[in-house]
Amino acid sequence: MPNKNAIGYRPTWAEVNLDHLEHNFKEVKSLLRPQIEVLVTVKADAYGHGLVAVAKRLVACGVDYLGVASIDEGIELRKAGIKIPILVLGLMLKKDIQPLFTFQLIPTICDKKMAVALNTLAVELKQRIPVHIKVDTGMGRIGVLHDDAFKLVTDIHKLKNIQIQGIFTHFALADLDRKFTARQINLFNKLVGDLKKNNILIPLVHAANSIGLIRHRNSHFTMVRPGLVIYGLYPKKNLGINLKPVLSLKTRVVFIKQVGSGYGISYGLTYTTKRATRIVSLPVGYGDGYPRNLSNLAWLLIGGRRFRISGRICMDQMMVDVGNFKPKIGDEAVLIGKQGKQQVTAEELADLSGTISYEIVCGLASRIPRIYK
Ligand SMILES: *Cc1c(COP(=O)(O)O)cnc(C)c1O
Repeated sequence: MPNKNAIGYRPTWAEVNLDHLEHNFKEVKSLLRPQIEVLVTVKADAYGHGLVAVAKRLVACGVDYLGVASIDEGIELRKAGIKIPILVLGLMLKKDIQPLFTFQLIPTICDKKMAVALNTLAVELKQRIPVHIKVDTGMGRIGVLHDDAFKLVTDIHKLKNIQIQGIFTHFALADLDRKFTARQINLFNKLVGDLKKNNILIPLVHAANSIGLIRHRNSHFTMVRPGLVIYGLYPKKNLGINLKPVLSLKTRVVFIKQVGSGYGISYGLTYTTKRATRIVSLPVGYGDGYPRNLSNLAWLLIGGRRFRISGRICMDQMMVDVGNFKPKIGDEAVLIGKQGKQQVTAEELADLSGTISYEIVCGLASRIPRIYK
């Protein structure tokens, strides 16, 4: 029998508001000079929001580039009919480069060996492949060390079937340390300047992620690479931009029972009722990516009021002591998002959980259906 229920038979789902995504994209655009290109990172299933739906809306908004972590994510976009340029931000092994050509994905490269392998295959296929070269100016992740970058770029420039379309770096402390970031920007600027003097002109020069593009206006170069802010999440408080959270996480009350005072709740009985009260059960848990360490800590919304999770979060369920409040079976509960005047944010859950909002949204399990608005 076909499932007529868009979300399946468990009333737990994530709502993804694509109008808010568009709002955030425009908000970012308003910070940029008009000729600056925008690459939005849609890696990790668009930060848990759903790769293809998010990518399609961004294309409709006029995004210039999409950034993915792997060839596989790029292939998924191509199979969904996405035609705009896609940069693979992560590295791959030499044996796996064929699909870059088949699916027209742009690789990030950091060394000569990969450049030669790409050039050799490009010659064989009678193609010219665009690449972006990654430079490490102080992050210590992938990327050629800035001291070695000039030589690498000039070497790659000699490979006839490679087009150096972009060069980029990534900030380590854009949220914390203005001086260190300024130093990274200077090193990068100097490299690009030296290359120019040697007639190596690279069209796309990029460095800034979300916080970088907001806090360091001189880091925009010719393209920026926001992710987080496009999803309406703040990398830091008080940034003076107006974002709308794109994702809400919702479920429904499936069970309510009256218990006496002194009744222990969930594994380990870490919560004990202080009076006769009502305990609500919700069909969502750490198996959905909701962090277990939020047990007895995080708040959620039922009937427009905030209630704290009571006892340990289970794999598929959690409980809430709602006191005298009388919800009904089927009432909506909001774990991330708004209900009435109340709101729970991914940032708030991240703070309580000892992590960052990125991990909260990326961690939402694939078994949670994403519903698009
Ligand atoms: C993920 C990523 C970004 C986007 O970072 P946000 O903090 O989400 O804006 C930018 N650049 C690179 C290389 C990335 O991997």
